[in-house]
Amino acid sequence: MTETTGARLLDGKATAQAVRTEVRAAAERLAERGVRPGLAVVLVGEDPASEVYVRMKDKDANEAGFLVRTIKLPAETSQSDLEAEVERLNADDDIHGLLVQLPLPKGLDSDRIVRRIAPEKDVDGLTPDNVAALVTGGEGLVPCTPAGCIEVLDRYGIELEGKRVVIVGRSMLVGKPLAQLALARNATVVMCHSRTRDLAEECRRADVLVAAVGVPRLVKGDWVRPGAVVLDVGINRGEDGKLVGDVDYEGARQHADAITPVPGGIGPMTRAMLLHNTALAAARKAGIAWSDVATAPMG
Ligand code: NDP
Repeated sequence: MTETTGARLLDGKATAQAVRTEVRAAAERLAERGVRPGLAVVLVGEDPASEVYVRMKDKDANEAGFLVRTIKLPAETSQSDLEAEVERLNADDDIHGLLVQLPLPKGLDSDRIVRRIAPEKDVDGLTPDNVAALVTGGEGLVPCTPAGCIEVLDRYGIELEGKRVVIVGRSMLVGKPLAQLALARNATVVMCHSRTRDLAEECRRADVLVAAVGVPRLVKGDWVRPGAVVLDVGINRGEDGKLVGDVDYEGARQHADAITPVPGGIGPMTRAMLLHNTALAAARKAGIAWSDVATAPMG
């Protein structure tokens, strides 16, 4: 499958479109049973990047046929008022997926807010119950970015069993949950972070290399073992305003067997998995098996 001109492109945009189409079909089947998935997104303050993300989530969910509520609150909202808003949405039967856009303005404790979200509505998969479910193999909701990483691998037929998966970055949002998902697929997982000694050498040993760091082009081309698969989760804005990943794409694609681009890789997959999680949460609430409404299996 490897092209002589470089790595195979793992097209997150096209794959995400396929996922969105499937979620929309699932939403139609749910509608036949009187269930309309509902997503609430709470945005506090006026962070421009957060506003863009929330608009995109709103648009995606509308296109999928969901009920969408965007709740905008001023930056000076108090902790208790924000917690009360979360409680209100927890109790709202029309809402199946609830997320509070992070980061929150200074002075608000995001950990405490996240802990308030009902686990069955926690479509970002960040509550302690969902973290526990991921670690113990229970039924929960998986964070969208790592779920998107696994989904893109699955759809390109890239198996993880027995492979050495090296993940650079150990955040609760990406690195740690992805490690659990890869372990569940019987990969050998190596976690790297800012204190890792000789990061380049660790990366060179990867069969599947994931960069989720937030440092533009940190991973150099010669850190990629010939034939490796590279997932670039990073989203950084370059000085020219363009988005760049955590991997030197041009360098890495000379060595890799397959690679996700930025933009058009894991970003669109993350958005698509939010829709998937919301529809899944709606089906579960109604006691409908996902397999009864899904047209394709989801990781
Ligand atoms: P965090 O800042 O929470 O975590 C970054 C991780 O990278 C930390 O574990 C940190 O190590 C590690 N790190 C930082 N610098 C280095 C370095 N020089 N060498 C090795 N490791 C390093 O980031 P997130 O996980 O939230 O996001 C990571 C990237 O992914 C960002 O670019 C973000 O924009 C992007 N992102 C993209 C998404 C998408 O949809 N595609 C969704 C979410 C995030 P330590 O723990 O030691 O501090």
